[in-house]
Amino acid sequence: MSEPISYSIVIPVFNEEAVLPVLLRRLEQLLSRFQRPAEVIFVDDGSRDSGPIVLQALAKRDPRFRYIGLSRNFGHQIAITAGMDAAQGKAIIVMDADLQDPPEVVEQMIAKWQEGYDVVYARRLSRAGESRFKRSTAHLFYRLLGIMTSVAIPVDVGDFRLIDRKVLDVLRRMPEQDRFVRGMIAWLGFRQTEVAFHRLERAAGETKYPLFKMTRLAVNGVLGFSDAPLRLAIWCGLAVSGLAVLYGCWVLVLWMSNDSRLVAGWSSTIVIISLLCGMNMLMTGIVGLYVGRIHAEAKRRPLYVVQQREGFERDQAVVPHGALHALHE
Ligand code: UDP
Ligand code: MG
Repeated sequence: MSEPISYSIVIPVFNEEAVLPVLLRRLEQLLSRFQRPAEVIFVDDGSRDSGPIVLQALAKRDPRFRYIGLSRNFGHQIAITAGMDAAQGKAIIVMDADLQDPPEVVEQMIAKWQEGYDVVYARRLSRAGESRFKRSTAHLFYRLLGIMTSVAIPVDVGDFRLIDRKVLDVLRRMPEQDRFVRGMIAWLGFRQTEVAFHRLERAAGETKYPLFKMTRLAVNGVLGFSDAPLRLAIWCGLAVSGLAVLYGCWVLVLWMSNDSRLVAGWSSTIVIISLLCGMNMLMTGIVGLYVGRIHAEAKRRPLYVVQQREGFERDQAVVPHGALHALHE
């Protein structure tokens, strides 16, 4: 029997024909440096170019390469999920097809994994060849997300990472639809560490992440890992109603002192409208809290994740009385 696979490299591919030749060459070099058996899983996310044909042929020819073709474009996060579901390795590495994630970093990740870390993510020290807009929005997004969520989602880290088999096994028990995989892995915990790298320019082709896909990913990140937006309505509601009440008090004082600044009808209208607005917002916020709970339930995440158990096996090893009796017979 052949040795079991140690490393699975998952690569989502969407219209990347321009980059495939150089990607395959670099992967070949990487695989030849591995000491243990590895597989590369290409997940084609509904490409409309010649990529699927090339990758399919490669998978037929070379047993180290595998190919999964999705029926349409499901998006990057779903594509990497499909690849990880199919991975057999003891360590699973996710990287982009465009060589912005250099394959050499994978070796550093594996070294950390061999030291005993369960999750090794790659932090981007710099990002070459990306527009100032993309860099600054990404920078802002990671920081805002950090403020809004209680899960420590690492900053300036994409999906380029290595995870241990046991992390993948629990990740697969998180069936949520709108996936923000990097957040889900952070949520899982385990022993995490990082390697730093300078993100290169795309080797060829153009980004497959236009603004709307990037926005969708950011929204998924926020909604999946924070209920701060739901609570916003409560705070706004409280603030507006509070101000309305204060204003009402002030008008009352003016009225009692027969102040000439008071215009008949105006103050009462404003007070009533803002008070009602505030109440409305407050109620929306309260509904939001319940929606938040439904949302959390609907994600069907495990309640907790156990990393290690000690002593249980020993208890089970104690032979029950009945069995002991049977042995004596
Ligand atoms: N990708 C994908 N489905 C998509 C968009 C992108 O599988 O709908 C893949 C793409 O082929 C690449 C990776 O996801 O391997 C990252 O995409 P890209 O490099 O375009 O994103 P950027 O680096 O510009 O953020
Ligand atoms: Mg890229």
